[in-house]
Amino acid sequence: MTKFFALFTLIFQLFLFAESNVVYDIRGASPLLDANMSQFLDKWRNDTITPVQNGIYKNVLVNGDPSRKNIALTFDDAPDENNTYKLLDILKSHHVQGAFFMIGGTMRDTNATVVKRTFDEGHLVLNHTFNHPRLSDLNESTIVYQLDHAAMRMESITGHYPLLMRPPYGSINPIVVDTINAQGLTTVLWSLDSLDWTLKDPDAVVTNVLSNIRNGDIILMHRNPTSVGALAKVIEQLTSMGYTFLRLDELLGIKAYR
Ligand SMILES: [Zn+2]
Repeated sequence: MTKFFALFTLIFQLFLFAESNVVYDIRGASPLLDANMSQFLDKWRNDTITPVQNGIYKNVLVNGDPSRKNIALTFDDAPDENNTYKLLDILKSHHVQGAFFMIGGTMRDTNATVVKRTFDEGHLVLNHTFNHPRLSDLNESTIVYQLDHAAMRMESITGHYPLLMRPPYGSINPIVVDTINAQGLTTVLWSLDSLDWTLKDPDAVVTNVLSNIRNGDIILMHRNPTSVGALAKVIEQLTSMGYTFLRLDELLGIKAYR
């Protein structure tokens, strides 16, 4: 009986281990995308996620643990002097901590204040390159410059060098992935695209997110007015559906800073 129980426990643990390593397909749909754009997006999702699922791209993360009702919010393309503040206000009033993948080159003067505030309020200030280029078009040394120059600017403002990066447009190839890994950084993509950049309607974003949500999802939003308009409802409704918002590093169980 004891042996049987031990065997059962082992099988159960193996099952859990396999489950927790599942790499999701990316979800999120918009009726506003034309046929060309839909096709482009599907191709990108397939070309990018399949090598992650097959273990060809190492150290590229798409989602958290599918067996728990935990999720994380991520916001790309901050800082600016308007929408980033509004996102921070909403997160603060809902006691949720997000991850901001920021563009190093836009962190000047007054913009640095919002970067500091983001960090001070417990959100992550993470690397989204220096100038937001398509990294798959660049050579290795230019990719390194984009990553390191951005990270150093973030460190000069927050005191912390980010270890997590998100490639602009999710654009990666084997050279990009190898270069990021050689820098000791981890690539973090997303599993649920709010499609705020194309829907441009907060209610449509809420519907898209709620109808596609899964355990462990990393949700992609941007510092744009659509996500500002959708954020409170997204948080409130997912909370009422039983989901818990974790900060990205907690969801993934990894270190955010050096
Ligand atoms: Zn971006």
